[in-house]
Amino acid sequence: MRIGWTAGGATDTGRVRPNNEDALLSDPAHGLFLVADGMGGHAAGEVASRLAVEACARGVRRKGTGAAPVEALREGFRAAREALAECCANDPRTRGMGTTLTVLLLRPDGEYGIGHIGDSRAYLLRDGRLEQLTRDHTWVQEQVEKGSLSARAARTHPYAHIITRALGVDSADEPELSGGRTAPGDLFLLVTDGVTGKLEDGQIARMLAPGPLDAAAAALVEEANRRGGEDNATVALVGVRAVEGEV
Ligand code: CA
Repeated sequence: MRIGWTAGGATDTGRVRPNNEDALLSDPAHGLFLVADGMGGHAAGEVASRLAVEACARGVRRKGTGAAPVEALREGFRAAREALAECCANDPRTRGMGTTLTVLLLRPDGEYGIGHIGDSRAYLLRDGRLEQLTRDHTWVQEQVEKGSLSARAARTHPYAHIITRALGVDSADEPELSGGRTAPGDLFLLVTDGVTGKLEDGQIARMLAPGPLDAAAAALVEEANRRGGEDNATVALVGVRAVEGEV
């Protein structure tokens, strides 16, 4: 059986910040979906996230459809890192910029790959259950894994936003890559922390009712804004369906 997909997305500056340093890129023709959350002064965060999603997408496409999703993603992250390093070398104002990057790559045979660095998350909604596919690269997540902080306390901890890995020039931080098989009915969700900082998993799952994915993505962003909108908020949704024909 072959699979196909439909996608929706939304990104918003929020109600407090002057700029949107998140970036969203959807390339449905290649089964490729990316979100990034940039950081750095003087608009460098915007530059970093935009460069990262575009360079990563180019790297994945260059690798071709014959490569395993995880291998294509590895090449994408390498290309993104290189693009950021080159930008910083050429423009001192962007020095020190960095970004999270979370990427989903789907193949028509049902194989998928997820790559991430930082605290933008990927989730899978399957049979009504929302499962987080990525592990935040944050200080609070490390404390939760050590058992010294509860998941609930981590959400509101003053250090909740401190990330331990990012894509940036001064960093040898590696992405985490994983893969699996998807099936018709699956719904993938990529989000920045402007959404997950405001909505818990159960609240997100309840808002992912069947319907147009653009509307569902916009509703999540709007809800983050309604709860304060202190951060930029970005959502990509990818729904998997069956299509006729052999792979
Ligand atoms: Ca953010």
